[in-house]
Amino acid sequence: MKWAHGYLLLCSATFAVLFRDLLPLLPYARLPVPTVPVVLAFLGYVATLAVLGAFLPGKTYAGAVLPDGSRLTYKCNGLQVVGVVVTALAVAHWSAYWRATWVVHHYAQLLLVANAFALALSVYLCVAGRLRRPRNWLRSTSLLADFVMGAELNPTVLAIDVKFFSYRPAMAGWLIVNLSFLAKQLDHLGFITSRMLLYQLVTAWYIWDYFVHEPKIVSTWDIIAEHFGLMLVWGDYVFIVFAFSVQNFFLLDDTRPLSYLEVALIAITFSLGFAVFRGANSQKHQFKTQPKTHIWGKPPITVGDRLLASGFWGIARHMNYTGDLMLALSFSLPCGRASPLAYFYFFYLLLLTVHREMRDDQRCSRKYKSLWDEYCLQVPYRMVPFVY
Ligand code: NDP
Repeated sequence: MKWAHGYLLLCSATFAVLFRDLLPLLPYARLPVPTVPVVLAFLGYVATLAVLGAFLPGKTYAGAVLPDGSRLTYKCNGLQVVGVVVTALAVAHWSAYWRATWVVHHYAQLLLVANAFALALSVYLCVAGRLRRPRNWLRSTSLLADFVMGAELNPTVLAIDVKFFSYRPAMAGWLIVNLSFLAKQLDHLGFITSRMLLYQLVTAWYIWDYFVHEPKIVSTWDIIAEHFGLMLVWGDYVFIVFAFSVQNFFLLDDTRPLSYLEVALIAITFSLGFAVFRGANSQKHQFKTQPKTHIWGKPPITVGDRLLASGFWGIARHMNYTGDLMLALSFSLPCGRASPLAYFYFFYLLLLTVHREMRDDQRCSRKYKSLWDEYCLQVPYRMVPFVY
């Protein structure tokens, strides 16, 4: 319940920053009243992802064991689905049927439509979840907590698992917003700056990697432990798409060249962050699916055969968060000292991961009991060895 209030505050603050501080930087995109074509484009985008997800082939993976002993299955064809959508948009752009700059030009309207959509979906999920109360695993009885933190663990809409699905419009939306700013810069300056190019490369790699490793999200905290309410809904449809991409505002007109040292710093932060982030998440996934798989060439060290205590999981208890933070920093470094707002994503992720690590610690302590205490003794650092 206390998180529900905090989260509502974060939503409002982000919304205020986007509208008050950032939108004035796009004078051509300030008309905020959404028009019918913009509403239809947004709904069409979400519907297209849903339809392609249902019909394109994809391998199916089993999720974690639920409190009632059952397991859900997830069709992981996000890479194909998003590949088709982005290719179709690229073809439309190059055939001059549609311009990629359309997204930037309708930024304010899209932001409002996405907010309205997230709000409507959250209300629906809260009402539907509460109506299904006797048959579902409910965490809370407070209306506000159910609305913000979610009334159900795995709600469905038209037979679609909306929590799993919603990462697709989120991550693909982030990519599309980025590419639209890229097209805008090309139109405006006639060339792509080195700062913009680096930002585009590192974020596109991260998004592409997300879809390549989509099956691995079925064992992540959001999927196994978090209910689906405004917090995640708004996070997917608004926050990831519009707040993760704020660097674009500062990169659009920034023609200052990058020094070799700056390029090296960004490249090293990104590569190291990626190796830690992907390595840690993959090791945990391997351990969960094939517990005997070697970690860094050696049999895994475990606590009671249930917790991995070697590889990245032997260095600190959440090195995957540390790697993700380094990646987030590399996404903002191309902006240099343009504005503290360019580092918004990094600071948000810092808050989220520190807070989540504490919540995960409590959850694991409840679940694994003395095994968790033993693991904490063996691996005393939470996220950064010798620091935290
Ligand atoms: P984790 O993938 O770390 O999942 C935590 C769960 O893993 C625990 O609840 C426990 O679940 C299991 N676990 C923890 N320690 C061990 C261990 N030593 N051995 C075996 N299992 C263990 O967390 P998240 O789902 O939060 O994050 C996944 C990735 O997504 C991270 O890299 C994170 O940075 C990223 N992320 C990014 C966000 C963003 O906004 N960019 C937001 C959220 C996440 P169990 O009950 O299964 O054992």
